[in-house]
Amino acid sequence: MRGGCRNGAGRPRQHEKVEDYNYLSISYLCRQGLLMPSTKGTLTWTRNGEKAGKVKIEVDDSASSLILMYSVRLRGAENWKEVNQPIELSATACHYGGQRKWFKCPQCGRNTANIYITTKPACRKCLKLVYQSQSETLVWRIWNMKRKIEGKLGTALQKPKGMHRSTRSKLLDRYLKLDKRLDDIFYVRIEKWKAQGWW
Ligand SMILES: [Zn+2]
Repeated sequence: MRGGCRNGAGRPRQHEKVEDYNYLSISYLCRQGLLMPSTKGTLTWTRNGEKAGKVKIEVDDSASSLILMYSVRLRGAENWKEVNQPIELSATACHYGGQRKWFKCPQCGRNTANIYITTKPACRKCLKLVYQSQSETLVWRIWNMKRKIEGKLGTALQKPKGMHRSTRSKLLDRYLKLDKRLDDIFYVRIEKWKAQGWW
């Protein structure tokens, strides 16, 4: 993923950084109660005291999808683009009961914890974003461990034919723990941004 990336024109191009984008975090929305049925709200991002983006959210009455509405202008671009993007929500069962919610990436359909705000909102993988922060190595390690488990279970984390229930259970448990760790890293960052007036 990292380095040596080429764009369509065949020129080497640096990956853009996760930190360059505003994003919606599913756990943040959950904690704030913004995924309840029929919720409407506006999230704003500020950086250094200046407005850095605004997204309107409307959750449907069964809380199975939400619509993101915003205008966005890519760096260097002249015109603003109006985006009106439905995002499906899905849930996977947690090993110890309860549910974990996900966004379904509108581009690839995979479950994702974060949707990045750009002209075509999507998950980090679709946008080929990399992490810049000090926790980059750790994030990548956790990410790769998750990928390995996804390789065994599939991205929908279903039990493959022939796999023993307890094996699946162990893998899923491990997956959710890794996920929680990633979430914590992001949570720390969002809190930090909040403290700095970034969120
Ligand atoms: Zn995607």
